[in-house]
Amino acid sequence: MKSLTDSLSVLSGFGPKSVEKFLKLGLETVGDALVYYPFRYEDFQSKSVLDLMNGEKALVLGEVISPASVQYYGYKRNRLRFSIRQGEVVIAVSFFNQPYLVDKIEVGAQIAIWGKWDKTKASLTGMKVLSQSQDDLQPVYHLVQGVKQASLVKLIREAIDAGYIDLFEENLPAELLERYQLLNRRDAIVAMHFPRDKEEYKQALRRVKFEELFYFQMNLQSLKSENRRPDAGLAIPLDQQALLNKLKQLPFELTIAQERSLKEITSDMASSSHMNRLLQGDVGSGKTVIAGLAMYVAHRAGFQSAMMVPTEILAEQHYESLSQLFPELSIVLLTGSMKSAVRRSALAAIESGQVDLIIGTHALIQEGVNYHHLGLVITDEQHRFGVKQRRIFREKGENPDVLMMTATPIPRTLAITAFGEMDVSIIDQLPAGRKEIVTRWVKHEQLSLVLEWMGKEIAKGAQVYVVSPLIEESEALDLKNAIALEEELLAYFGDSVKIALLHGQMKNQDKEAVMQDFKAGKTDLLVSTTVIEVGVNVPNATIMMIMDADRFGLSQLHQLRGRVGRGHKQSYAILVANPKTDSGKERMQAMTETTDGFVLAEKDLQMRGSGEVFGTRQSGLPEFQVANIIEDFPILEEARRVASQITAEPKWQNNPKWRMIAKDMSRPSKLD
Ligand code: ADP
Ligand code: MG
Repeated sequence: MKSLTDSLSVLSGFGPKSVEKFLKLGLETVGDALVYYPFRYEDFQSKSVLDLMNGEKALVLGEVISPASVQYYGYKRNRLRFSIRQGEVVIAVSFFNQPYLVDKIEVGAQIAIWGKWDKTKASLTGMKVLSQSQDDLQPVYHLVQGVKQASLVKLIREAIDAGYIDLFEENLPAELLERYQLLNRRDAIVAMHFPRDKEEYKQALRRVKFEELFYFQMNLQSLKSENRRPDAGLAIPLDQQALLNKLKQLPFELTIAQERSLKEITSDMASSSHMNRLLQGDVGSGKTVIAGLAMYVAHRAGFQSAMMVPTEILAEQHYESLSQLFPELSIVLLTGSMKSAVRRSALAAIESGQVDLIIGTHALIQEGVNYHHLGLVITDEQHRFGVKQRRIFREKGENPDVLMMTATPIPRTLAITAFGEMDVSIIDQLPAGRKEIVTRWVKHEQLSLVLEWMGKEIAKGAQVYVVSPLIEESEALDLKNAIALEEELLAYFGDSVKIALLHGQMKNQDKEAVMQDFKAGKTDLLVSTTVIEVGVNVPNATIMMIMDADRFGLSQLHQLRGRVGRGHKQSYAILVANPKTDSGKERMQAMTETTDGFVLAEKDLQMRGSGEVFGTRQSGLPEFQVANIIEDFPILEEARRVASQITAEPKWQNNPKWRMIAKDMSRPSKLD
């Protein structure tokens, strides 16, 4: 009996040797081969020779104007010649070693020839005489060395002719096929390889994309509904009165958006299902205090919390600000650079439950860190951590509630793919009293004007960040640049301005000391490599100058700009750049046009594509065979809508078959 798992060697004409070759493409079974789709088609649409470049291959239509003659010049070597006319142009046509074509060439008839155009000789070396159907699409597959297009085409033809296509069962509900007028699975697969015309190809593609995105969404939605099972997580009850009292003690009132997010988080925590929530908020929107309040709630209910952040500077900063805001919590810092004695006592305090809240870097997920009644884990700047790290973190407790925070606004496109199984809270509002950051793009030639202005602002009490150019290839060069920049600024300002340097290779203590001085206002101007990119909070700093700003991506520029504008004073971002590329100019332009992180994120996505923006592996962003989440966003959204309807039906929840399909079809390893 035939089966889709049959080895390719069952197909006639394919022996063990060729089977081995196809294995290099990842094709082992007949089923594999049939769903190995072409990535494009050679479009055999006829062209005017006037439009062809020398050496271009094309389909040329014309009228035969001279009879064909064959000339032999050796064993099995011969040349067939005739002329055709296309409009005013007379074309000399030759076919090598295809003498049998002579019968097909009739003077006065129209003919369609696939061949290579020689412009200088106005001649065409023919390869094939084609039928003249309007669209003649030939599949083109991704290949590896040793496998030819022709043999793959032959393999797939053979598989279809041998009847394997009939073994594919429909995997979409009839209802959906009907509703969206989709091709059935068998027809779609055949048409993906050998479409009769462009319309059929379009329909096949639509069906295959829908199928792919639908199963992807089924998988996300089923994860989501598993989280929602009433017994899936911890119940961390809310002490409403304590929370209200705490809110009154804060030095500010929460914004409406913060309040809404807090409510969503605490109600997730209180329920016994599992919280898996993403808190999105632009830089400066006030996520830290929300995280703090959630941890406070956990503490009141008798649970420990842990918060993981990407850098030590940020860990120290959170430690400090949360200690200030929540004096009633016992908080401990855990980082890689701690002395071992300090670390040992921290670990003991964590394990015994003496501390309520642990803030740290990757050190939090190392072996030997044992938590006590861990109820809530929070990741700040979550995109800086890999999928695996986030999982280890979660597994440190017994299924603790999970809150992830990000200041990189995620366009909707990505939000429903990369984070589709999460619930999302958005802080889409900055605290009251913030002034919009004024952003200017200046050329290097204008730098002295900027510095003059900057000197005056510093004299009035402003503090300034100057970010040195990013040199991706080498940290050493980064440093050299920063030092050179510091020297130039020292030479320019003299003693009137107090300047300090911060860079990635400094010892943590030194970094910390430099940051403390800047925070305390002891330094006016901080020259820095991009180590300050993430999360640093110095409300009195009002000027951010970025050198060679065009070397940075949009989201990084947005993050850097977000270091200012954190207090009540007017803030400025100065981008110094003489961009050489169009995209560099476009980025500078975009930065001056908007301070809205969501708008910039969409722009970034358009300019660079999703893989670049989030880094596929890092974010858990799935890779699709045929679908493209940006181009196919409407299909994706529809698929999500349908999948969440289906997964909400009780009959689905109790139907192991659907569950199986959902798991098989998607790529669970990439879904965190
Ligand atoms: P981010 O969302 O970028 O992490 P932070 O949590 O660092 O932002 O908050 C930025 C600053 O705004 C901090 O100084 C914080 O104390 C302050 N802040 C947070 N919420 C409010 C609020 N509702 N009103 C006024 N200031 C606030
Ligand atoms: Mg933050």
